[in-house]
Amino acid sequence: MSDFHPSHPELRPETKTVHVPRPTIEGSSPITVPIYQTSGFTFDDPAVMAEAMGRPDGAFVYGRYSNPTVRSLELAVSGLEGGAGAIATGSGMGAINTVLLGLLKPGDHLVAQRSLYGGTAAMINDLVGRFGISVTYVPEHDPAALRAAVRPETRLVYLETISNPMTLVADLPGMCAVARELGILSVVDNTFATPLLCRPIEHGADIVLHSTTKYLSGHTDVVGGIAVFAEAALHEKVWHFAIELGASADPFAAWLTVRGLQTLALRMERHCSNAHLLATRLAEHPAVTAVHWPGLASHPSYELAGKLLSGFGGVFSFDLAGGRAAGEKFMSSVRVALLAPSLGGVETLVLHPASTSHRALSPDELRRSGIGEGTVRIAVGIEHPEDLWADVTQALA
Ligand code: PLP
Repeated sequence: MSDFHPSHPELRPETKTVHVPRPTIEGSSPITVPIYQTSGFTFDDPAVMAEAMGRPDGAFVYGRYSNPTVRSLELAVSGLEGGAGAIATGSGMGAINTVLLGLLKPGDHLVAQRSLYGGTAAMINDLVGRFGISVTYVPEHDPAALRAAVRPETRLVYLETISNPMTLVADLPGMCAVARELGILSVVDNTFATPLLCRPIEHGADIVLHSTTKYLSGHTDVVGGIAVFAEAALHEKVWHFAIELGASADPFAAWLTVRGLQTLALRMERHCSNAHLLATRLAEHPAVTAVHWPGLASHPSYELAGKLLSGFGGVFSFDLAGGRAAGEKFMSSVRVALLAPSLGGVETLVLHPASTSHRALSPDELRRSGIGEGTVRIAVGIEHPEDLWADVTQALA
């Protein structure tokens, strides 16, 4: 028992029920990270408390600032990405907005790759429409286009290692080198690759983002995000904004994510090998006109992906010859795969990007992103590959 309150004979029952015992553990420690389900922390020394509130790596004070379970996730992902620190958030969009809103101000300009996750694209449209920020879109593989787009008021370039849903691979070394040379920050959404397939900081990125909802947690049971910073000073700067924004991660969500992370390497191997089998076979299927997976020689990012990634990822899209009707028929005919949003969990999920994840895009933006009416996205799970192939072929039939 830790202290005075719970057992002291002078205390009345009403007080004892409030101040329940808080055992301290001595001589052993838990193997797994405990869930610190507390909104705040108590101190013996007010000076220590005051000092802790000003630093991202200070003592734990208040849940919106930090929490030991959340810190465990931040340290784990930061370590995997090779960062100096991280901020875990309540969703992937929370991480994206913590970074964009924390770094941009009215009058600033950003450069972004053309093909972006729909939620990010919608947020950038909002920044442009309501916050007086301007944007130039460039192809993700074109450092010369980035160089031409940068202006004196440009603050950052926003990239995705592997884009959603067309799986275009960004030229991270080329784009990050130009960004560094011109004094702008490079921000990379690494959700599709995970730090097991690619670590953008090794290629010059300043900030790496994840929707931990996806592969890092891996079991379709949590929504979360994280921003990892290459430099401690940038981490601290954005952390001060993050505690004002209040998009912080919940300890239980962080705990689920840490638990999922422990099997990430095994799951990624299976996601990638299952995707390889389905993509190569679908490419030969008569009902399919194109398969967009960077592990196929026909994919525009094939060569770059071979150099940058240690695996080609578990998500791909394919176009059906029969257009939207064929896509809808396919999605309502799968039996093992589930018609559902999101990706990166153990289950295989299919969706129709044009009407769901990318519905915020105009017909013109959809066309420029290469997303057709008959495009289906498949987030390949870790089931037996032949069960998945049997399911896909019966649904195509
Ligand atoms: N980044 C990518 C690449 C995504 O696919 C998603 C969601 O699908 C997000 C960010 C947003 O993450 P969340 O849904 O956790 O907010």
